[in-house]
Amino acid sequence: MKIGFNEANDRFCKGHTVMMDLELCEKYGFDYIDIQSECLDRDLAAGLITIEEMGAWFQCHHLKMLSYNALCFFNMKQTAAEKAAVMAQLDEIIHRCNVLGCKMIVVVPSMDMAERGLQPTRREIREDAVAVLKEMVKKCEPYGIKLSLEFCGAPAMTINRFEDAYAIVEAVDHPLVGLTLDQYHFYAMASAWDALEKADGKKIFVWHLNGTEDLPCGAPYNNDEKRMWPDAEGDCLDQKRYADTLKKIGFEGGCCTIEIFRPEYYEMTQEENVKKSAEVTRAHVAKYC
Ligand code: ZN
Repeated sequence: MKIGFNEANDRFCKGHTVMMDLELCEKYGFDYIDIQSECLDRDLAAGLITIEEMGAWFQCHHLKMLSYNALCFFNMKQTAAEKAAVMAQLDEIIHRCNVLGCKMIVVVPSMDMAERGLQPTRREIREDAVAVLKEMVKKCEPYGIKLSLEFCGAPAMTINRFEDAYAIVEAVDHPLVGLTLDQYHFYAMASAWDALEKADGKKIFVWHLNGTEDLPCGAPYNNDEKRMWPDAEGDCLDQKRYADTLKKIGFEGGCCTIEIFRPEYYEMTQEENVKKSAEVTRAHVAKYC
């Protein structure tokens, strides 16, 4: 099992840059990195780096880019202009991925429907997402780029449980469309273990590793900031069960990617954070995979 680093881990560490993440991930032995779009856009806007320079860097290092993380809020668009904007964003991300040698785009569902005067049912959300993903994958096909739908375990998210994301991916039924299993997201809205246990592991493209504090399902303070190192003191996740289940259902993603958004970990230096992330991920894989 390879190990991956998601920039969620350290993105607010003092003086953070994407290029420093690449150097540090290489130094501490990560095989893959998920680049966070917010970090990348920030560094591009500041003129710190160009996509072409990053592409050249990847060509002469071991570290590879696992995913572009992410195309946010792809679904439930109401107007032609909103729908066109998603497709234009996808075109730009595909262009970047081709330069960076990246073969996967994580897509994140839209949120806050009520604030937009909408109250869609699960069926309406499913049908919309299936139609949009079918259209998106046509753009990805010529380049062999995968789309990985990441359900997000928060009440306001349109796709917030594993079983809903899986039903969408099954209905799209395309080898380039799968989903991201993020352990925190799975836990936070009480996704069903029996649904995961019955799933085809080949449809899970990305595995996001983390632990979390044990908080009520749907509580407003049950959020990404409560994530922590897996098996740290206070972690309530059954780490063995996640790893065993993925193995049993035939997960072929080949990489375990650590992804934590804990503010106190942003107090570390960027280097301490990447070093610790590598130690934790390597130990996890050795213990459970
Ligand atoms: Zn994630």
